[in-house]
Amino acid sequence: MSDLVFRRNLLALSPRSPDLAALLDETEPDPRLSFRAARSGALVPVYAKDGREAAFHSLMDPRRDAERLAAAQPPGGFIAALGLGAGYGLAPFLASSATTGILVVEYSAPLLRAVLEEFDLSELFLDPRVSLLLDPEPREIEAALLASYIPPLAGDLRSVPLRGRVDQDPERFAGAAAAIRKVLDRISDDYSVQAFFGKLWFRNAVRNLFAAERPASPLPPIRRAVVTAAGPSLEAALPAVAKARGEGAFLIATDTSLPALLGSGMRPDAVVSIDCQAISYYHFLKGLPAGVPLVLDLALETLRGLESLPEEKADYPAILFLWRMVALLGLMPDPGSCASCGAELAEGLPKRHAFAAGGFLCPDCARAEAERGSFAAEAGGGYASGAYAPGGAGRGGAAAREAPDSGIIPISAGAARWLERAASLPFAEALGVGLDSPSLAGLKRLAFGLARRAAEAPLSTLTSGAGIL
Ligand SMILES: [Zn+2]
Repeated sequence: MSDLVFRRNLLALSPRSPDLAALLDETEPDPRLSFRAARSGALVPVYAKDGREAAFHSLMDPRRDAERLAAAQPPGGFIAALGLGAGYGLAPFLASSATTGILVVEYSAPLLRAVLEEFDLSELFLDPRVSLLLDPEPREIEAALLASYIPPLAGDLRSVPLRGRVDQDPERFAGAAAAIRKVLDRISDDYSVQAFFGKLWFRNAVRNLFAAERPASPLPPIRRAVVTAAGPSLEAALPAVAKARGEGAFLIATDTSLPALLGSGMRPDAVVSIDCQAISYYHFLKGLPAGVPLVLDLALETLRGLESLPEEKADYPAILFLWRMVALLGLMPDPGSCASCGAELAEGLPKRHAFAAGGFLCPDCARAEAERGSFAAEAGGGYASGAYAPGGAGRGGAAAREAPDSGIIPISAGAARWLERAASLPFAEALGVGLDSPSLAGLKRLAFGLARRAAEAPLSTLTSGAGIL
């Protein structure tokens, strides 16, 4: 046992799990845990219970055993790990940049304390993809998964039990496994609804695309028009509508007012339906008189934009989608002021974003952040401040390790202009902009990093960015 090893583990745990770190600091290690060298030389925790001893990992070669088990799984995705043990089982998943997240469930603080006095797991705890729940109630596991696991971003969710550990506490781990299954069922229900209707919507959109390409009968030139919509005054206004009509006005009915017009024997010259939903169907129960043109918003421009997108622009829709989603969640960094000192940042100039600072930085603060960041990286990771991952890119820990830079993402002037306008531009127009590849790479890192952050942080500001879309 070594106090130094335990302190390192505690330091790595404390930024994101301060309560857990404090609890472990006050806990006495479980004396029933001992350690034995496996045939390969690696140390394995061994637990004595009811006069029997059980090893958490293979006593032949725990590392190779873990690699074999991980290799049997499809690569990537989100792992719900039942049991931490000495961490051997998780190392192969962490080594893969396709692994998007790991939620570790472990029970017994004295046991965890004993493990952390022996094994340096600081690298595992520092990986932004990893979170650890100690002694969670099943509903806490559900809440943690629902908050951190987003299927389109994280891929498949799989539970990976550490057999040697789970067998020592079968009831509680069975409860955890049931909680994970419950979340999976709930998410797959949600997801299959989306997948089912998504296909239907897409099929209808494509069919409409064909229909819309056929020439439509042109509307006559309109000099005067009356537009009707549903409302308490509609019926009272019908005589005035009829009079205007008699004087040559073109009658445009929004779909909501169609039943009232038809009910009073009035035939509109055109019907407009915007943002159709299932309920829009009820407006047409009385039918649409033959020959009356129906004007619909078919998202055609967006579909055509997607269809004609050249390959080098394949990332644009995803970046745009994530950027708007981040805005909708209220997590959009303010492009107009420095997140550190508050200085105004001029529009249309290159910008520097730092996840550690939580936004864009002015040149002075960016320089200071770069110095601080590279110092922190040399000192073994920029987490001591409780800040986000250095680099903070979509692939989390792997990217942070591959690029132990300052964690600052440069955003070119062109990319900055695009970002400032992208949230309000029509989709097809936003796709039409051409960016050079370094600009695009910066944007991609930023958008995916923000989305990742959104997936891991509590989403309590759901409404504050809604006006942007
Ligand atoms: Zn500043």
